[in-house]
Amino acid sequence: MVTLFLAVLLITHVVEMKELEQLRRDDSDAAMSSVVFTIIILLAVLLIIKFLVDIVFIYAAYKEKCGMMKKYCIFWIVFLVLFIIAFLKTLFQLSAGYVIAQILFLDQKYWKSLAEKELEEALQVRFNLRTAKNVILFVGDGMGPNTVTAARIYRGGESHKLAFEAFPHVGLLKTYSADKMVPDSACSATALFSGIKANLGTLGVDATVPQSDCEASLNKDAWVDSLAAYALKAGKSSGLVTTMRVTHATPAPLYAHSASRSWECEANMPANAKQCKDIARQLVEDWPGRDLHVEGGKIDMAHHRGRAKTAVDETVAMERAVQVAVDMTSDEDTLIIVTSDHTHTLTINGYPERGSSVFGIAGVSPFDRINYTTLSYGAGGPGSFQYDIKTIDNKTRSVRREPSKEDTESYHYEQIAAIPLDENSHGGGDVAVYAKGPHAHLFHSVHEQHYVFQAIAYAAKIGPYSSGYTIEVNIILLTTAVLLLIKLF
Ligand SMILES: [Zn+2]
Repeated sequence: MVTLFLAVLLITHVVEMKELEQLRRDDSDAAMSSVVFTIIILLAVLLIIKFLVDIVFIYAAYKEKCGMMKKYCIFWIVFLVLFIIAFLKTLFQLSAGYVIAQILFLDQKYWKSLAEKELEEALQVRFNLRTAKNVILFVGDGMGPNTVTAARIYRGGESHKLAFEAFPHVGLLKTYSADKMVPDSACSATALFSGIKANLGTLGVDATVPQSDCEASLNKDAWVDSLAAYALKAGKSSGLVTTMRVTHATPAPLYAHSASRSWECEANMPANAKQCKDIARQLVEDWPGRDLHVEGGKIDMAHHRGRAKTAVDETVAMERAVQVAVDMTSDEDTLIIVTSDHTHTLTINGYPERGSSVFGIAGVSPFDRINYTTLSYGAGGPGSFQYDIKTIDNKTRSVRREPSKEDTESYHYEQIAAIPLDENSHGGGDVAVYAKGPHAHLFHSVHEQHYVFQAIAYAAKIGPYSSGYTIEVNIILLTTAVLLLIKLF
């Protein structure tokens, strides 16, 4: 019996898939619902009880009889034990929900119902043409599309939807800066909040200000107002929430104008920039009200260190914040936008099994027979090195790191990168923008990043679209008309 049991354990893996297929066939007509879920769980419990009773019964029969009957009983005991182990293993390793999904996902009906549900939702989408009384802009720093995909899989599997992925309107933003193909947070946040593209490393100023040029930044014509400033002008409250320092490059363009993102405090200012005000001082002295823009800044920080799991976990944390905002507000008057300032070079490599951990191993390289992880980076710091230097047969060789010997599920695990740099770099790909509420449909296509400012200003009727502005324009038009009339008569 002991040998038999060991044999059973060895072939459990093989049986797992067979057993899933068997279950799938049994339930192929079922649809995904809580009732079906309950029935399947009940059936599973009943099956386990039945099998236990069967084993006792067959074992009793095996002790009594001999010959053919004995062989038949052994066959049945092996089969039943295998079945139970495989079932329990699958259930505990992959969670009940996943087992159900596995049972159903191969079924055409499941896929069809998934798509039909989406079509139904799409047909319900109406343009909301109200004026946005409130605007909440979530910026996941460095939250590129691959980070969002990884967060989705981590949170609930491949077909899961994050809170903001259920928003009815989605677009893409081109994140390049005035001078670079790949931006940093300072110039990209300036684009988002102030509606112009700036040079890398500069904030709250236009592209006439080169990076670190204090003198150029003193020219007030180069200063650009942010949505926060326009909101305050329109008599609204405005504020920011960040998981980073308030003087960090992403929130700073809301209130400051600086030729360098690193001039956060006086100590960081070079001697030739003494006549410029540091960012912290600008916040304290020049800002009338420090009373919402929300930033999840640690996604970027984790990516720079090459820690994909921490970055993904931070994305999930931001999703929770988005859900809270959704629950607390109404589509009637609140425009909620979720986007990012730039991507990172995170990639999702082929071809891990569906349902496996996104932080696990995707496969083995046919060239060096060494495993590789599902997530890796394009360009990374020292922690993302690919190769170990080893002496093999008295020769020094570089050998690729074997991820199966490391804890790839750790928050501190640093995925490998293709190019060694001082730290993991930003990516130049487009970021997604998700929107719900008044005028959310303005995000519908491939947009420039600084278009976000225009769309928000239009939706909230602030800044260039404020009613005050319209009155001014109207007065000019009226005056012109009057002058024309006077001339005519
Ligand atoms: Zn960054």
